[in-house]
Amino acid sequence: ASKRSGKMRCTWFNRTFDQRREAVREIEDDLHRALADGEFELAYQPLVSARDQRIVAVEALLRWNRTRGPIIGPNVFIPVAEESGLINPIGLWVLRQSVVDALGWDDITLSVNISAAQLRNPEFPIKLGEILEETGFPPRRLELEVTETCLVLDPVVAERTLDVIRGFGVRISLDDFGTGYASIGFLRQFRFEKLKLDRSLVVQAGEDDGSRAMMLSSIAVARALGMGVTAEGVETEPQADLVRAAGCDQIQGWLYYRAMPAREIDRLVEEQNADQGMAKAKGSNAA
Ligand code: C2E
Ligand code: MG
Ligand code: MG
Ligand code: MG
Repeated sequence: ASKRSGKMRCTWFNRTFDQRREAVREIEDDLHRALADGEFELAYQPLVSARDQRIVAVEALLRWNRTRGPIIGPNVFIPVAEESGLINPIGLWVLRQSVVDALGWDDITLSVNISAAQLRNPEFPIKLGEILEETGFPPRRLELEVTETCLVLDPVVAERTLDVIRGFGVRISLDDFGTGYASIGFLRQFRFEKLKLDRSLVVQAGEDDGSRAMMLSSIAVARALGMGVTAEGVETEPQADLVRAAGCDQIQGWLYYRAMPAREIDRLVEEQNADQGMAKAKGSNAA
């Protein structure tokens, strides 16, 4: 009986597997065309200072303005692009487009997500160097977000690639901390400039003591190692209070800003600079 049910499960599995395969293949074909037809767009989500809520950075988030099928988010199409290798040209498009968009956003850091396949690609650091040189984007204002899966597969190669990238002056942050297996030892091994606490950990920390303890200890270690800490996915004031008290220096979440087109960031940055200019003028009048 166990053999039979095993076989049944196997047929069932294969059918859904084939269906999944078919759906993935359709997306994959369409991704090729989308890149050629210019259907990708970038949205930018501001990160604010935990201290005064000013915008200190923006994260570039890929959007697919799809004309031939249902609109799907990056959580769906990025894994397909990763499996097919298309993430390499797509990722380079993201880098080039985002640094061009962000050129005029003085003093604001640009964060770009990087997939494991990109980090493993020996061409990647070379292309990154070319993009920085051709655009004149200050490397100090660029930050690449990697996840633990980028690093665990081949830590030696990853470490070497990260060193080359850091050599340009670009900073590295560990994204989605608290979702996978990345341990505190991991932070020490790779020496990231910044830690990003995943939204799930932020939400959980507001709900149970165990998660709060985990968040607090991760932040303490990160700070002791000289890393900046960003809380992701902050949607409520109590969550913002919690992560601020816990020692996060940057906050990202819908409580402050959602992702928006580059033009809107242009306007926000302009406003912020004008406010700062006024504050400065006031200060010097008083002096
Ligand atoms: P991520 O890098 O962790 O980006 C943060 C995600 O959280 C974004 O989802 C953002 O819109 C969402 N988010 C921000 N604040 C809040 C909040 O307060 N509440 C909630 N519920 N969500 C919030 P998005 O844009 O759908 O991106 C999903 C993931 O897709 C990203 O997660 C990243 O892993 C990946 N991704 C996006 N763009 C790129 C890209 O250009 N390259 C690569 N390799 N991956 C990308
Ligand atoms: Mg990210
Ligand atoms: Mg994240
Ligand atoms: Mg995430």
